[in-house]
Amino acid sequence: MGSYTDGMEPGVHEEEHRQISGGWVRAGIFGVSDGLVTNVSLILGFAGANPGHDVVRLAGLAGLVAGGFSMATGEYLSMRAQKELLEYEIDVERRSIESSPAAEQAELRDIFVARGIEMELAERLSVDLMRDPDLALRTHTREELGIDPSATGSPISAAISSLIAFAVGAFVPLLPWLWSASGNEVPWSILFGAIGSATVGGSIGWFTRKGVVAWALRQVSVTALAALVTFGVGRLVGG
Ligand SMILES: [Zn+2]
Repeated sequence: MGSYTDGMEPGVHEEEHRQISGGWVRAGIFGVSDGLVTNVSLILGFAGANPGHDVVRLAGLAGLVAGGFSMATGEYLSMRAQKELLEYEIDVERRSIESSPAAEQAELRDIFVARGIEMELAERLSVDLMRDPDLALRTHTREELGIDPSATGSPISAAISSLIAFAVGAFVPLLPWLWSASGNEVPWSILFGAIGSATVGGSIGWFTRKGVVAWALRQVSVTALAALVTFGVGRLVGG
């Protein structure tokens, strides 16, 4: 069974591992970015209404916790669904290897031939691989689905890392509010938010190789716009 396409090259696995590790880093950066934009806006929105130091601090803490858990549950559910889908596909493959080994052996041989292996050698190789059920399954899922049956990812660790990433971002603009009221929390919060945004944007630019400064400025502008809107709403509604 399978959906092997001619576009798959022998180097596909190294490529994939790069994408997976790159995917984690990218998810982390965007998680931090989410936390930062959310909490800069939330904190400045509250600060705009001038409700007092402790209320703003509480709002910032609530934003950190609520946003972090929202990100974690979203990540958990989507990873879980993806994992179950992959496990279903692996199961289909496993049953197909059991029920029609001859067709699966021929399929494997054709895959090898498509990769440039001689027919005779491909035949021997595929017959050999099909003798060990575990090896057969691993080879089939790798060749047809591009995954290792034992490496479908962990929803729990994805959830925990997105919670941490969001919390790190949300913590930055909250920092000036954690100590006693000085009266200067708003400018400090804006400064921390701007430095955090520039760092996050710069990292995105570095990873995408699309210009560190341009991305830093883009991220700062987007965050500033969001904060400006909520600050204005806070002023209007609560001020
Ligand atoms: Zn197959």
